[in-house]
Amino acid sequence: MIKLVTLFKQSDQANGFKKIVLKVKLLFTLLPIKKMLKWNATQLLDFFFSNDKIKGLFAGILADFVIKPSEFNGVGIPMVNIETAFDKRIPITVDKHTIQPQYNYILGGCGEMVKLLANFIENHQGTIHIQSKVQKILIENNQAIGVELENGEQILSDIVLATGDIHNTFYTLVGKDQISSEIQQYINSLKYMESVFMVHIGIDFDPSPHQPAALCYYYGTYDIENAVDNIKNGIYHEGEDGFLIYIPSIHSPEMAPTQHHAVTVYTVAPNHIKEGNWQKQKEELANKLLEYAETKIPGLREHTKTRLIMTPEDFRQRVNVKHHSFGGIPPIIGQKGFSHQTSIEGMFYAGCQSESTGGVANTMNGGRKVAHLILEMLEKNH
Ligand SMILES: Cc1cc2nc3c(=O)[nH]c(=O)nc-3n(C[C@H](O)[C@H](O)[C@H](O)COP(=O)(O)OP(=O)(O)OC[C@H]3O[C@@H](n4cnc5c(N)ncnc54)[C@H](O)[C@@H]3O)c2cc1C
Repeated sequence: MIKLVTLFKQSDQANGFKKIVLKVKLLFTLLPIKKMLKWNATQLLDFFFSNDKIKGLFAGILADFVIKPSEFNGVGIPMVNIETAFDKRIPITVDKHTIQPQYNYILGGCGEMVKLLANFIENHQGTIHIQSKVQKILIENNQAIGVELENGEQILSDIVLATGDIHNTFYTLVGKDQISSEIQQYINSLKYMESVFMVHIGIDFDPSPHQPAALCYYYGTYDIENAVDNIKNGIYHEGEDGFLIYIPSIHSPEMAPTQHHAVTVYTVAPNHIKEGNWQKQKEELANKLLEYAETKIPGLREHTKTRLIMTPEDFRQRVNVKHHSFGGIPPIIGQKGFSHQTSIEGMFYAGCQSESTGGVANTMNGGRKVAHLILEMLEKNH
């Protein structure tokens, strides 16, 4: 699978004869696993293992996408259990067509990437309008001609590039009357992930003797199918089924004052708790989650100097969505994100609900593809 995915990426980025050679290599690599391509993760794990705990271990990370093993492509299992995440000694490059994927921490936090992009835009005479919600994408004769902000101001443009969620973008900003019934059917049938419940704390001790790595996932159940079902039905596990602890100040010490650490404990959570209320229960649920986290790093609550809780409700407001799907479009068999090229001339769609799918790297890669589409369009029009 690692070789296959490397070849796929390399052929995607190559041109001419090199592209053909890589595609042929890709086909030969695919042959031995051809019969498995249609299997879901349950079928694949049943084929390789008899022990339910081992199956649960390899399927565990799917709970992070809030999707059931029976909904996930079986051959994707090696890709979500990448070896380099478990052992630093695993070489990244096995050969020139087999390059292991790796997880990366962003020094100084994700905000550093936002600053880079903002600087780039400003250095190229661009203007960034903050706190300016777009309430309409202006369309004339099926051609996007600009946007209208919440304060009524209209900004005319040659290109509109949207990155909000599909529902809001196409039903509210574009308008149902501008899109075909086929596309509406597709939008109505999409399945999403759920949200997350996060507790950020600042502590005055060194947690690294208990957790040497900046990020650790702690799985609390082997029954992923049932755990995902519960979240989808609004039943919140409070941390019992699993959580993760991220300590960014381990890789970026400037993210906490000296002798202190920044710690985030979080877990997947339903957008709405059945018979509950995130805002009312958030303090109690934060304590509960930290109680589970203390089984791994004792003393977290006693040594908390500052604390910030983020509920699914907060996330919905933050990114302007009715349903928060924290990793974008989930990788469910047969489901694709919205295509970058829309049916409206001059309007493109990127972001975690587009065909790029979610995650920082995928979303960025999608952005690159959209940039190429825009360049192609501009070249054609000149
Ligand atoms: C808690 C959490 C942890 C995650 N962890 C990881 C991880 O470890 N690794 C990883 O790869 N990915 C992770 N992800 C997923 C990743 O962050 C997302 O897939 C990615 O950031 C999506 O980028 P985006 O640009 O599509 O969307 P966003 O980053 O959500 O940006 C969309 C922006 O559009 C704005 N917007 C929406 N509507 C409008 C409007 N009408 N007018 C103006 N602005 C609007 C929103 O306010 C928002 O700022 C995580 C996500 C969450 C929530």
